[in-house]
Amino acid sequence: EAKCHFGERYRIFAGELTTSPEDTLHLEMSLKQAIEKGEMYLEYQPMVLVRMQEIIGVESLVRWQHPEQGSLSPGQFINIAERTGLIIPLGWWVLEESCRQLKEWQETIPQAQNLFVSVNMSSQQFAQPDVLDRIKAILQRTRLSPQSLKIEMTESVLINNSESIIEILAAIRDLGIRLSVDDFGTGYSSLSYLHRFPVDTLKIDRSFLENADSDYEKLEILQSVVRLAWNLGLEVVAEGIETPKHLAQVQALRCESGQGFLFSRPLNKTAMEAILQSQATAS
Ligand code: C2E
Ligand code: MG
Ligand code: MG
Ligand code: MG
Repeated sequence: EAKCHFGERYRIFAGELTTSPEDTLHLEMSLKQAIEKGEMYLEYQPMVLVRMQEIIGVESLVRWQHPEQGSLSPGQFINIAERTGLIIPLGWWVLEESCRQLKEWQETIPQAQNLFVSVNMSSQQFAQPDVLDRIKAILQRTRLSPQSLKIEMTESVLINNSESIIEILAAIRDLGIRLSVDDFGTGYSSLSYLHRFPVDTLKIDRSFLENADSDYEKLEILQSVVRLAWNLGLEVVAEGIETPKHLAQVQALRCESGQGFLFSRPLNKTAMEAILQSQATAS
């Protein structure tokens, strides 16, 4: 397994109010050590063209192999990482490891040739003055084509960093990297900002598919989001496709790609390789 080592200093925010300061401090310390000890690793969730059920890319998702507690999911440590600033070195490790892994697959698995990897980036990474240089350096070190990389950000990146972020995103996109708005619809849900930002893809949060069949309003929102995206020339990805019913809804909306447990849960490296190798060779 790949290891994670950081040579940088961590930014610690002092004076945070927490429900149990001692527990939080303990978790912070062990997360910092976890990063240094290389306990972080990635899983990959297939992203598919819903019509063909063909894998077009993978989203990389970070996990923590905790020595006592076993594998921890982001829900158990991302908040701490965000609050302590550890998300910055962790996020750059995730980006580099994702690029390195996809490049390796492209070179060794014919079916992986045209895949992209979609990587979550924190707003704190976007706020770093050298964000563009870091991305460029990672592409150079891993030799991954920028066209094979998608970067996911939440709406908060667009809202919080407002003016300078437009230039940064445009520069990232000029490299050939595609940009996605993740969990779309859960944040400020302001459709008005979308045309101002140079993004390629909307990932519609899975909460819109939950009960969409019985919840008329949710379906209406979903429909108008897809229509809006079309009008703006954006690609739409539906998250959280869990059942054949969800899939039928996504297809009815003419949303072209998606991901979810119906196709596959996030997979470790070995399982992901097996899935790729079992696919028909890309034409
Ligand atoms: P996300 O980026 O929206 O990723 C999708 C999450 O939904 C993943 O959870 C995935 O396992 C889960 N999921 C996928 N398909 C389904 C489905 O059909 N049903 C349900 N119920 N869930 C599904 P995970 O891996 O626990 O990640 C949670 C969140 O943690 C991610 O949400 C992302 O916001 C964050 N995260 C994960 N890795 C990173 C990272 O490397 N950097 C940063 N900044 N955030 C990350
Ligand atoms: Mg994501
Ligand atoms: Mg998402
Ligand atoms: Mg989500």
